[in-house]
Amino acid sequence: MAHLMDGRALSRKLNQGRVKSDAATLPRPPGLAAVLVGHDPASQVYVRRKGLVAHRVGFHHKQVDLPAEISQEKLLEVIQELNADEQIDGILVQLPLPSHIDSIEILDAIDPMKDVDGFHPNNVGLLSQGRPRFVPCTPLGVMRLLEDMEIETNGKHAVIVGRSDIVGKPMGQLLLQANCTVSICHSRTRDLAAEVARADILVAAVGRAEMIQGDWIQPGTVVVDVGINRLDDGRLVGDVHFESAEAKASHITPVPGGVGPMTIAMLMENTLRSSAMRQGKSLSF
Ligand code: NAP
Repeated sequence: MAHLMDGRALSRKLNQGRVKSDAATLPRPPGLAAVLVGHDPASQVYVRRKGLVAHRVGFHHKQVDLPAEISQEKLLEVIQELNADEQIDGILVQLPLPSHIDSIEILDAIDPMKDVDGFHPNNVGLLSQGRPRFVPCTPLGVMRLLEDMEIETNGKHAVIVGRSDIVGKPMGQLLLQANCTVSICHSRTRDLAAEVARADILVAAVGRAEMIQGDWIQPGTVVVDVGINRLDDGRLVGDVHFESAEAKASHITPVPGGVGPMTIAMLMENTLRSSAMRQGKSLSF
């Protein structure tokens, strides 16, 4: 039976430990602004959750709710105002944005020094050069989970399923920098089950409920499930079929309670780091 990688417990430890205590030492609290466009229920839940955690760790938090019909120009103005706001160290724009909005132009408009999601091309470039400033929160959270469980990455074969800019690609960069041999799979991958079978470390970031079956993986594989999928009966499941994978994996993340809370914890860490930089202070970690 696999060891459970408990992201809920680790995120609580990080938030209530070093993040909260370091935040309290800064001249002014770290400030996080969340921009929410429209009324997508899942986005509302995510933004609310991030705001709650920010509040709990003692950050200044500002939620900017905007109508779904907002124009590109008006949204750009909101971003410029937040860029100029001295109390704000981190700006996150909750994705997805409505289809009439050019998301790339919006994300590019965020001051790269406040880009705590790590999506700005400056930060993407720095990560790919191995000198990261802000790293996307989900893959960073996965790395923290692996470190916490003392999982060896040196020389291991990491297989990532999914090549998105926010999860799959930066995950590949981080695992490569941790000396894994990395394969990144996607919808055109020819024999996905055969690729998955080669993994020492498997990261699933697809968005398809329980697509990856336990009999695809080798005994002893470390299984990290980034996927969050809601079934018709209301249950949340990952991209990996948990019960069959748990029987073979050495470690596995639950869904929910695995990668999700770590993503929020890393958002807090990135915001704290940004705030410390902007206030000329150093952190204890
Ligand atoms: P995305 O942008 O939709 O990317 C999905 C990736 O999966 C794409 O690269 C796609 O390939 C690939 N894919 C789709 N069907 C496939 C198949 N049958 N076989 C192999 N690959 C396939 O999704 P994302 O934003 O990376 O998110 C992935 C999942 O993680 C979602 O469930 C999302 O809700 C979840 N998520 C969780 C967190 C968290 O905090 N836990 C954070 C972010 C995302 P192509 O590129 O070829 O289309």
